[in-house]
Amino acid sequence: MRSKLVAGNWKMNGSLASNQGLLQALVAALAGLNRAQYAVCVPFPYLAQAEQALRGSNISLGAQDVCRFEPGAYTGGVAASMLVDLRCRYVIVGHSERRSVFGETDETVASKFAAAIKHGLTPILCLGETLNERETGITEAVVTRQLDAVIQHCGIAALGRSVIAYEPVWAIGTGKTATPQQAQAVHAYIRARVAGLDRALAEDLTVLYGGSVKGSNAAQLFGMADVDGGLIGGASLVADEFSAICRAAAAMETMRV
Ligand code: PEP
Repeated sequence: MRSKLVAGNWKMNGSLASNQGLLQALVAALAGLNRAQYAVCVPFPYLAQAEQALRGSNISLGAQDVCRFEPGAYTGGVAASMLVDLRCRYVIVGHSERRSVFGETDETVASKFAAAIKHGLTPILCLGETLNERETGITEAVVTRQLDAVIQHCGIAALGRSVIAYEPVWAIGTGKTATPQQAQAVHAYIRARVAGLDRALAEDLTVLYGGSVKGSNAAQLFGMADVDGGLIGGASLVADEFSAICRAAAAMETMRV
C-alpha cells in the first residue's frame, strides 16, 4: 500500500539564518505525525545544515539536482555520491525549471535519474506539460515522452525505486492549481502507462502532484485515488503552510486505517 509523501522544493531560496528557523519549526510541527512521509529538498550549500537540523526527525533530506557524471573534472557539478555522503534520500530530477531555464533534455534527465539510482538515491522525476501543450491537447503525449525517455534509459525496474511528480508547468508558482479532477486524470494515465509494463510496480508507484499546492487545497488533491501527496514549492518556505499540507497528507493516512 502506498503511503502519502509531501516533499518541499525550496528552489534557490534560503540563507543560513532563515533556514535554521524554518527547519526547527518544521521538526517541531511534524514531530509525532508519523502516518505520512515528509522531505525537504534544499539548495546544495545548505544540505549539511539541513542534515544536522533534521537528524533524528521524521523529515528526510533531498537535493534539487544531481550531475549525471561520476566525480571528476566537471566544474560546478555535484555527484550523486556526494549527495549520499550528505545523507540525502531524495533528489529531484527534471524539474520544469531545469528543463526550461537550463535546457535539460529528456536524455539529460534520464541520465541524471540513472546516476541517482546507481547510488541508492530516490529520484523524484518531474513530468508535466506547458499551458500551450495542455491547450493543444497533447498533455498525455508530453508526459509519455518524458516518462518513456527514463524507462528506455534505465529500465522499468528502476522506476520502482523512484517517485514521480506530475507538475503541470502552468500551475508551478502561478497560484493556478490544477483541479483535483485534472490532477487525477493525468496521475491515472501515468499509472496506467506504467501498469502496461509492470502492474505491481505501478500499483506501488508514488505519484505526487505539484503546482501551487497550499494548506487550503491539499486535502482535496490528496483525496484523489492516484494522488499520493505533493511536491511543494513556494508553500514549503513557510513553516505553517508546509506543516498544514503535511497534516492534510497524514490525515488521509489516518482515514485509511
Ligand atoms: C515546484 O517548484 O515544484 C512547485 C510545485 O512550485 P509551487 O508549489 O510554488 O507551484
